[in-house]
Amino acid sequence: MKYNMVDLVGQYNRIKPEVDEAVLKIMSEASFINGPSVRSLQANLESYLGVKHVIPCANGTDALQVALMALNLKPGDEVITTSFTFIATAEVIALLNLTPVLVDVEADTFNINPKAVEAAITDKTKAIIPVHLFGQCSDMHAINEIAEKNNLYVIEDTAQAIGADFKCPESGEIKKAGTIGHIGCTSFFPSKNLGAYGDGGAIFTNDDELAEKMRVVVNHGMKIRYYHDEVGINSRLDSIQAAILDIKLRYLDEYGKARQEAANFYNRAFSNCTKITTPKISDFTTHVFHQYTLVLNDIDREGLMKHLAEKGIASAIYYPVPLHLQKAYLDPRYNEGDFPVTEMLSKLVMSLPIHTELTPEIQKEITEAVLEFVEK
Ligand SMILES: *Cc1c(COP(=O)(O)O)cnc(C)c1O
Repeated sequence: MKYNMVDLVGQYNRIKPEVDEAVLKIMSEASFINGPSVRSLQANLESYLGVKHVIPCANGTDALQVALMALNLKPGDEVITTSFTFIATAEVIALLNLTPVLVDVEADTFNINPKAVEAAITDKTKAIIPVHLFGQCSDMHAINEIAEKNNLYVIEDTAQAIGADFKCPESGEIKKAGTIGHIGCTSFFPSKNLGAYGDGGAIFTNDDELAEKMRVVVNHGMKIRYYHDEVGINSRLDSIQAAILDIKLRYLDEYGKARQEAANFYNRAFSNCTKITTPKISDFTTHVFHQYTLVLNDIDREGLMKHLAEKGIASAIYYPVPLHLQKAYLDPRYNEGDFPVTEMLSKLVMSLPIHTELTPEIQKEITEAVLEFVEK
């Protein structure tokens, strides 16, 4: 491919001297685990996000699992989440013997539909996991209201939206994605907006008690060395990844801006094409464009993707199969047709390359290639 979905090499080359120095320092000190860089990243993330506690961990999936483990839920308790997301969100619910309850999304934002959340609540419901899909916040005002009314926890899956701003429609207060519910979970997978050079993740909360609990859970359920008060897991962010992330955090807003500008370019190029719906951004959130996802109306999607691939242009489908139709998650409670918006989107969406290294020249080539196929 000439143009991939991401350009991590190009991004690295621009910060290479800083990164190389930081990594070599850790190698020479051999402070591989729990080194000073982990504490530094933690403090810098806390101040960037305006959140009381950041708990680094091994990956975004663990972050979600640890958040759920901190809530003292019991098997059979229900956790509501979206049918249109990456599998990790539902996977951890299932792994903990909790019951994932799926609900449909909004057609224009791809995010969880608060009305559907409300309709899915039973006396077993304990938590809601909204996913800020592709980089913009779910309707957290509505979700927090529903949660408060029904005494539920809200865990934000902000793996795709770190850096996005949520503006409370009532108070006007601005909060960072992942700090709006009780717990926020993010991923530092290399292609994420704040990506490490390996795996990584983090958990955010303003709740002292939950923070304390989650710090114990990520560390083998251990508060005092070799005394294990509960069953935990081993989930650490290593020092090399933390050092790299600490450097990249300083560029995160700049990276977000580059992605937004790239999205604007695409929006303009497709604005006159009635067969292509460009992303809609809700008025209570900014969009950090982890993905730039189009809805294709009456277009041969496979044909278009093949046409692009022949010109060396990557494209991708996030996500081709809704959660309730995934083989491992087939469940007599759900049938094809139950989540019509998710099912429609899974057939119509297509994402184009979006990252920090795009230029207008590259985007011109990409958009012309798309329009050439669509308008032929
Ligand atoms: C990437 C991602 C995760 C999982 O993160 P990992 O670090 O890969 O475990 C969870 N949820 C969503 C929505 C993601 O995009």
